[in-house]
Amino acid sequence: MMQWSKRTRSSWIQLAGHQGNVRLSEGGEVLKRFCEVEDLCLQALMSDVLSQFVPQYYGHICQDGERYIRLEDLLSGLKHPVIMDCKMGVRTYQEAEILKARKNPKIRTDMYQKMVKVDPAAPNAEEHAQTGITKLRYLQWRDDSSSTSSLGFRIEGIMTGNGKVLRDFYKTRTEAQVLETLLSFTRNQLFILEAYKSRLQALSNTLKQSSFFNKHEIIGSSLLFVHDHSNKANIWMIDFGKTVPTLEDVQLRHDVPWVEGNQEDGYLIGLSSLISLLGEAIKR
Ligand code: ATP
Ligand code: MG
Ligand code: MG
Repeated sequence: MMQWSKRTRSSWIQLAGHQGNVRLSEGGEVLKRFCEVEDLCLQALMSDVLSQFVPQYYGHICQDGERYIRLEDLLSGLKHPVIMDCKMGVRTYQEAEILKARKNPKIRTDMYQKMVKVDPAAPNAEEHAQTGITKLRYLQWRDDSSSTSSLGFRIEGIMTGNGKVLRDFYKTRTEAQVLETLLSFTRNQLFILEAYKSRLQALSNTLKQSSFFNKHEIIGSSLLFVHDHSNKANIWMIDFGKTVPTLEDVQLRHDVPWVEGNQEDGYLIGLSSLISLLGEAIKR
């Protein structure tokens, strides 16, 4: 695997997530707002076989009264990086969020507005009348209208080589739509497509040996794809804020559909969809 040069400062970008949650420090580290769930995962990952697929974790720092997780900058050394964030799994909410939503179905106007902006026909009559939806309804709609539920991953955002940021993938759902997006993201460059595919195959093999993967339910985590003009291409696992250890007696398969109660995340469904779509792209 190619090593990035660590010397030049990167043109840094936060693709997904609430803007401001993640940023680049003066010293060139990525600082992410502290979350204990994520912190525990990163600690465990540093001594797992998956460590080669995860940014280096350097502990925490406090700044202006706020705590942050310190991470390796995966864009370091790249001049005009081309980046894609793919959120993995067949669902992006935890089963605990369903229980919470049932207990306290809070109606959100902001999420209704986001939904209507993408698809005015998406809310039902009741939701239109109250101009609000629950967070769970929003998350489920996002999963079903994108490729999350069907392919086990979705594209969250892309930054092109000229710095243009694309985040409108709400309705990128079918294999054909995702394939087109992968081809335009890589500008059909065979070398890049092949490098990505072999990195994902290596990830797939490593996941089989990983005790972390064996013991965690991985929700809302992303694969960050990065390449540049010099034909370097790499992929890392990021974002473990909703990744939790499974209970003692639960053994997840990661490659079967989710039904409420089975806790399956469908991580491997997404990974094999991605590998096969990259294979399709290579044949084009
Ligand atoms: P979400 O809404 O997906 O839960 P989040 O707030 O948990 O978002 P992340 O998904 O971890 O945040 O990161 C958001 C973005 O920040 C990523 O899409 C990526 O562009 C950038 N990013 C995160 N970690 C790194 C890193 N180590 N190196 C470079 N870029 C990073
Ligand atoms: Mg994320
Ligand atoms: Mg997150």
